[in-house]
Amino acid sequence: MTSITDKPVPPYIGQAPLVGRYYAAECTQCGWIGSSQELTDDCQCTRDVGDRYCLGDTDEIGAERLLGIVQGMAQAEPVAYQERKKTSREGSEWMPWSECSREHYEEWRGKTEPNSHGVIRQVRALSVCAAVPA
Ligand SMILES: [Zn+2]
Repeated sequence: MTSITDKPVPPYIGQAPLVGRYYAAECTQCGWIGSSQELTDDCQCTRDVGDRYCLGDTDEIGAERLLGIVQGMAQAEPVAYQERKKTSREGSEWMPWSECSREHYEEWRGKTEPNSHGVIRQVRALSVCAAVPA
């Protein structure tokens, strides 16, 4: 069985469709998921890592794991990133949310301290679920 069950969404997904005698496989090293058609003859991962293959060992995965991945992607895949700012001065109010890049989001996520200019930022990722009114 796979050891990556705590990560619902795989970081890399193969492009080959699942056909014929092939099966769904998951790389135990990088988390790639795809058709076993894309693996080496020794069932190793062929994802490009710079100028070579990953060559991590792979496990066959079943419908349960695949459904979990689909559900994880539907719930967690962010579609946009936003930030808002205020200053550390007393009575400062948050500016409206505005779009920001993923890099910016990653950089500021979890930071609550003001920067050297006394500016506090909040970032958030908007998921598919949040974008669709309930
Ligand atoms: Zn791999």
